[in-house]
Amino acid sequence: MKAEIIAVGSELLTPDNVDTNSLLLTHQLNEAGCQVHLKTVVGDDRDDIARVLREALERSELIIFSGGLGPTEDDLTRNAVAAVLHRRLAIDEGLLEIIRQRFIARGFRMAKINEKQAEVIEGAEVLDNPFGTAPAMWIEEKGRCIVLLPGPPRELQTIFEMSVLPRIRLRSGGMRLVYKSFHVTGITESELDSQIAPIYTDYPQVRTTILAGTRHIAIRLYRWATGEEEPPDIIELSDRLQAALGNSLFSTKGEFMEEVIGSQLRQHGRTLAVAESCTAGMLGMHITRVPGSSDYFKGGILCYSNEAKIELCNVPPELIQKHGAVSAEVAEALACGVRNALHSSIGLSITGIAGPGGGTAEKPVGLVYIGISDGKHTESRHRIMPGERESIRERSTYLALSWLRRFLMRDTVSNP
Ligand code: AMP
Ligand code: MG
Repeated sequence: MKAEIIAVGSELLTPDNVDTNSLLLTHQLNEAGCQVHLKTVVGDDRDDIARVLREALERSELIIFSGGLGPTEDDLTRNAVAAVLHRRLAIDEGLLEIIRQRFIARGFRMAKINEKQAEVIEGAEVLDNPFGTAPAMWIEEKGRCIVLLPGPPRELQTIFEMSVLPRIRLRSGGMRLVYKSFHVTGITESELDSQIAPIYTDYPQVRTTILAGTRHIAIRLYRWATGEEEPPDIIELSDRLQAALGNSLFSTKGEFMEEVIGSQLRQHGRTLAVAESCTAGMLGMHITRVPGSSDYFKGGILCYSNEAKIELCNVPPELIQKHGAVSAEVAEALACGVRNALHSSIGLSITGIAGPGGGTAEKPVGLVYIGISDGKHTESRHRIMPGERESIRERSTYLALSWLRRFLMRDTVSNP
């Protein structure tokens, strides 16, 4: 089924708000066998909404509206759709009573303007909205399906899953989109593509995309299929990619690096503490985004100043005088120091020049050292990060996580 999504709301045409509903809808539509071939964002203007719907009726079998179903003057989706379809809009007394009761249950009296929300387009099926008062509708018109959903994401998602998906599945003849994702680090996008293009081009039925972000590179495989079984070609491609990617591949389940590290630490009963200079908490923030991270994360020290490095992480002052705060020696001393201070099995540190000031010819902005120590081995690495201050801080955080994963993997091999 060819589907399109129309997001209604003038706020979505400002620099402040984005249409996130269509991402959610697209994901679920694909899984139900519908391809989204067009998305439109339209302001709260009756003529614009009507024009977009007229065009949509020419080209799509399934048209999903998000937003514009509220009680206020600027909520015009209902009226525009009724006008285009030449159908009447009438108060549904049963629905009016349900909406009135919803207000009473929350301790309010229903305002007169809310009566508008009980207006139903002639011939539409009303879809239950357990979290709000705006009723959703399913309308059939000359072989086309038109769905009206309210804008608040929680309401939209619930109604879509409860009432819209089952209706779509009935019509899509069992087609669905099978999808796989691989998260990769430690390799550039072009290196990666030259490595895997000879493999994925053998599978023209599978669409392969490569998307590089600041955190990692995501490889995604998509393939349309019928039935519950995964098609053999996507399984074979996936196996070949995994073999080719080796240690660069850190997740086939869509996980972030901090989740993978969490599993590694937990699996080996090890704990972690961090000393952060230029990232000042960003590393700890990422590690603790994972529920249950208290099992293995002891804490961190924000050693932004030299005094903090000396007093809290026990870095010898001479080391800073001799090599500078941004150096291999200080990164290693920080990793050892925080490990001792917080009694963890592993200490991880970051010290760098985030800029825009503070760089020299010898030590430019973007130079970052990462130190790791497990008591037996202490080491450090450095890199010059591209970009502005915030991007340097983020990249340093992800690199520290990435090197920690490698350190833990090596450790598993050498100490089975
Ligand atoms: P409405 O149904 O137009 O009254 O929308 C109510 C609220 O839902 C808006 O104020 C937004 O906060 C949210 N919303 C509407 N459309 C979208 C969208 N496409 N993506 C994400 N949130 C939305
Ligand atoms: Mg709106």
